[in-house]
Order: sequence, then structure tokens, then C-alpha cells
Amino acid sequence: MKTIPERVNALITDSEAAQCDRCIQEALDLAQNNQVQQITSALATTSEFVRGKGACAACGKTKVVTRRAA
Ligand SMILES: [Zn+2]
Repeated sequence: MKTIPERVNALITDSEAAQCDRCIQEALDLAQNNQVQQITSALATTSEFVRGKGACAACGKTKVVTRRAA
């Protein structure tokens, strides 16, 4: 059983695209958006992930998205 941070990490890594917290939340069927935000913010402090304004690959909106560092 993977933890929620592990699932968020895997989703972003597997999709190879930037996604907003809302789409990550829906993709993983999580109840709370602030939970996703906490996790993506934590991931963004590592060198493996980047967080910032951009187009979400899933919903197409320009918002704060998280993606794998190139
Ligand atoms: Zn989105």
C-alpha cells in the first residue's frame, strides 16, 4: 500500500506533465485539496520537482502546477 505522498509523486512522474493540485486530487480520488497542496509544496522543495504557474496538462487551465524537474 502506497502512502498518499508516494501516489502523488508517482502520478506526476508517470504523467511527465505539469498538473494542478485539483487534477492531482481528482486523479487520486483524495477528499481534501489542502492535503494535495501540502504534498506538492513539499515535493517542490526537492530538486526533483518544480512548482509554479503554468498550464495544467489535465484541465488546461493556467494555475499553480507541479511537474518533474527536467
Ligand atoms: Zn488541472
